[in-house]
Amino acid sequence: MGIRTQTLLIIGMATMVLLGVSLAGAYRVVGRGYRELEEVHVTENLKRTVAALKVELADLDETVHDLADREMSCALVQGRHGAFDTSGIVNSTFAIHRLNFIVYLDLNGRVCFGDAFDLATGSRLGLPPSLRAAVEVRSPLTSHAAVADTVMGVLRAGTRYMLVASRPILAGGKKESICGTLITGREITTQLIGRLGGTAQLSLDLFDANDSSLPPPRPHTASGFTPDISRIAIKSLGHGRIAGYAWFDDVGGGSGCVLRAAMPREIYHRGRIATNTLMGILVIAILIYGLVVVSLLDRRVLRRLADMTHRVSNAATRRGGMERKAEEGRDELGELSHAVAGMIEPRATTAHATKHLAAMDAATEGIAIMNDEGLYLYANRAYVGLFGYDRPHEVIGGHWRDHFEEVEAARLDEGAFRPLAVVGRWRGEAVARHADGAEIDIELSLTGLPDGGIVCQGRDVREQRQARRERKSLELKLRQAQKLEAVGTLASGMAHEFNNILTSILGFTELTRKALPEDHEARRPLDKVEMASHQAAHVTGSLLAFTHKDPTSKARVDGCEVVRASAAMLEPILPGSIELILELPDRPAWIQADPRHLQQALVNLSVNARDAMPNGGRLTLRLRETAGDEVPDRAVLEIQDTGIGMTPEVVERLFEPFFTTKGLGSGTGLGLAVVHDIVKDHEGMIQVHSKPGQGTLVRVCLPSVMEREMVGTF
Ligand code: ADP
Ligand code: MG
Repeated sequence: MGIRTQTLLIIGMATMVLLGVSLAGAYRVVGRGYRELEEVHVTENLKRTVAALKVELADLDETVHDLADREMSCALVQGRHGAFDTSGIVNSTFAIHRLNFIVYLDLNGRVCFGDAFDLATGSRLGLPPSLRAAVEVRSPLTSHAAVADTVMGVLRAGTRYMLVASRPILAGGKKESICGTLITGREITTQLIGRLGGTAQLSLDLFDANDSSLPPPRPHTASGFTPDISRIAIKSLGHGRIAGYAWFDDVGGGSGCVLRAAMPREIYHRGRIATNTLMGILVIAILIYGLVVVSLLDRRVLRRLADMTHRVSNAATRRGGMERKAEEGRDELGELSHAVAGMIEPRATTAHATKHLAAMDAATEGIAIMNDEGLYLYANRAYVGLFGYDRPHEVIGGHWRDHFEEVEAARLDEGAFRPLAVVGRWRGEAVARHADGAEIDIELSLTGLPDGGIVCQGRDVREQRQARRERKSLELKLRQAQKLEAVGTLASGMAHEFNNILTSILGFTELTRKALPEDHEARRPLDKVEMASHQAAHVTGSLLAFTHKDPTSKARVDGCEVVRASAAMLEPILPGSIELILELPDRPAWIQADPRHLQQALVNLSVNARDAMPNGGRLTLRLRETAGDEVPDRAVLEIQDTGIGMTPEVVERLFEPFFTTKGLGSGTGLGLAVVHDIVKDHEGMIQVHSKPGQGTLVRVCLPSVMEREMVGTF
């Protein structure tokens, strides 16, 4: 997980925790505050209720004080007035003072007078036994120690509860001695409670202290209650109401009653609304805070950090990515980015250069870089391979001249490097020296560099050159063929015409000779005419053979026989100064040939040999066979003379038709052209070896006919 994600996650989580803690804390604190406030409110109301009750008691006390002070009260408890005793206590006494009962006790705690009164109906009820029992028990209510003693409180009488006040009845004018006790009471009725509640604007209820539905009481700490209320409780009633409970102990010492003051939970509800509003504001505030912190942190730190990490990791491959943004921000991150860019830049450059070098090394064209002195600083594999080396270091450090002959290097100095210095570029061809010593044709392209160095690109163009040469030679051959075609057509036409003329010359010569007697002197010149005509016929024959007008008829023939027949034809035309030698194999040398044409070729070659030996010499006609795997595969015919020989220029043009070195009338220049055609027609090959003054050897190779096939023929 990236640092950015982690940080955002942590801040998000921290914000949530902060929110949770704040909400819980706020609810607790504010909630408790409102609860306490509510308790105070409830307690205050309870106090007001109790205060109202105390007002009742005070009223009761005042009444009992009034009645106890009367003279008739003392007389009543002392039994001094007889029937008069109770005449002063009339219905109006009860009604005016809102008393439910009045009890007079003597010093012994005996009831001297006691009566109850129904305030609603205004009738006397007589003292109920439960009340009598309650007042006759000796208790703080009935026994007063001092003349100013006053006892007030709640008294339980059966199932009813009374507010009671008790005072000592004093004797004599000085009122210094106690002669009895007067107790007055007012029943805590629903009406009374309703009145009290109305005063305090509360809903009041009275419960027996032993009622199981009461909440557990607690000793109250709030001031304002009279000491006889020792316990209070506060309890929610549901339905948006709450109640305060006050315990009233029985003044006689038994269990008393509980007053409940119920009221709506206004404070609580207002508190809830206030707390919720506060919480809402808090949530929004914390969320806004969190978002602001996250976005600021993200924008100012995290995103830049992530961006920087990304750029650092990419810097080696994408040069320039780092320094373009390194300036951003003048804080610590900006400085860090700057520092990292500074560190990475050289590495990125190196990585880049390495890639360039690798690309150059992989190029198929030879590339080299030279310094201004012509020394190689760099050469790729293709470049060193051009000169026959395997590794660049075999070339790097050396001079370009090392790979050229001196003459060629000088030519390049003049023709390439000089224009390069002027124009900045040069392109052309050169002949370099291969590592194995051979010459190689290369195409060079030189480009000048600002520091004086030179980029040199080289390419092997041997194949292109060879192809160019072949194309030239083919063009030449085509032109030659076209020339021959034209010459051939002309020559064959002339030869035909000439033949017709010769036939008539020979015919008329023959007729003339027949018409002349044997010893006629004109016969000799006629013989010369006939001979010359035959020679002319031979020339036209050559012409016709050359132009292919004379059809070939090939057959399997013995090469030796052909040579012998040719030699016989040669005898008359060879001068005595030339020795004719035949070198033939013992057995027949079978070839597929037209014997007439082959003889013609042999005669032509021999006549040339004769002409090359004006002072005599030796003419050898040789036939041999070259050995194949099982049977001879070639018959080799050699015509060798010891004549004047030829220069290479003559050899080169030997087979051109009409090429002759002999004077006009002596040579036609067709002899060897015919030989060439005949050999070609026989699918053979012809070679000429000659040097001036060293004679000439013409070798004609013809394919042999296999012996196996021969066996089948004969
Ligand atoms: P021609 O004999 O009519 O001149 P060819 O075609 O027979 O024509 O020969 C061409 C040329 O080749 C000759 O003129 C001659 O110069 C040269 N030549 C041919 N054969 C020989 C040879 N055996 N020795 C020297 N030169 C020769
Ligand atoms: Mg000739």
